[in-house]
Amino acid sequence: MFTTESEKREFALKPMNCPGHILIFKQGIKSYRDLPLRYGEFGQCHRNEPTGGLHGIMRVRGFTQDDGHIFCTEEQILKECIDYTTLLQNVYTDFGFKNIIYKVATRPEARIGSDESWDKAESALIECLRASGCEFEITPGEGAFYGPKIEYTLKDAIGRQWQCGTIQVDFSMPERLDAEYVGEDGARHRPVMLHRAIVGSLERFIGILIEEHAGALPTWLAPEQVSVLNITDSQADYAREVAKMLRNQGLRVNLDLRNEKITYKIREHSLQKQPYILVVGDKEKAVGAVSVRARGNKDLGVMSLEAFARQIASDIAQKA
Ligand code: ZN
Repeated sequence: MFTTESEKREFALKPMNCPGHILIFKQGIKSYRDLPLRYGEFGQCHRNEPTGGLHGIMRVRGFTQDDGHIFCTEEQILKECIDYTTLLQNVYTDFGFKNIIYKVATRPEARIGSDESWDKAESALIECLRASGCEFEITPGEGAFYGPKIEYTLKDAIGRQWQCGTIQVDFSMPERLDAEYVGEDGARHRPVMLHRAIVGSLERFIGILIEEHAGALPTWLAPEQVSVLNITDSQADYAREVAKMLRNQGLRVNLDLRNEKITYKIREHSLQKQPYILVVGDKEKAVGAVSVRARGNKDLGVMSLEAFARQIASDIAQKA
């Protein structure tokens, strides 16, 4: 099936969801009216990486990919790529990444498919990035044997680069696995298959986010958003009420009622880089308030519980 080592490697890099999506596509007869047809899943992938290649959660043997496949005609490649690029930019912006490097990898020496198909696919990818207003570079010969691709690389806060997103045109797999649709002319045609992922491996993307933020994840992403600490046992019930009220608001709240010195508890939660620490003593309990510390040891003073709830809701809405 493969003629070169690089083809073998290229195929090995594909998780096995691709043929699975072709099997779904082949359920029933498809018409040109059904296209473009988009499938997506959070697919489990396994790779037998050598022990030396494993690295934290950046490179693991079992991971989850936001894998999607679009079945379309050659004419639809351009619009599908533009829509995908817009979605990818929105997702990266939500996560706080502003710098994206775009690369178009074009036809290699050894390839399948007619030159005419390659011309169409490459110009669709290039046109997609032009239409999306992106500066990009072309890496000649770096495409897969089955089609060209765009690679989307994130640049983090300190300039490191992480290749995450990709959209790849595939003329080969629909042919090999006999996917077809009935065209306007009543005859059977091969769809083009676009493989696409936005974050790539979820595990690796989480690793990138932790690196980007040096562990201090923005409030909307932090695994624990607020810790509620009582000073003595006599505020334990009030601390429970505060935690309950915030949890009911959908927040991820950690309640620390341990019988430890308050300075010790504050220090411990500060080291966890939690966005907010709420301290409740008798004074706060008496007036339904909380004493608020934001990350970075910022003392925001005493606030009513409602005022704090509004503030954190606003942080989350702004993805701060
Ligand atoms: Zn695929």
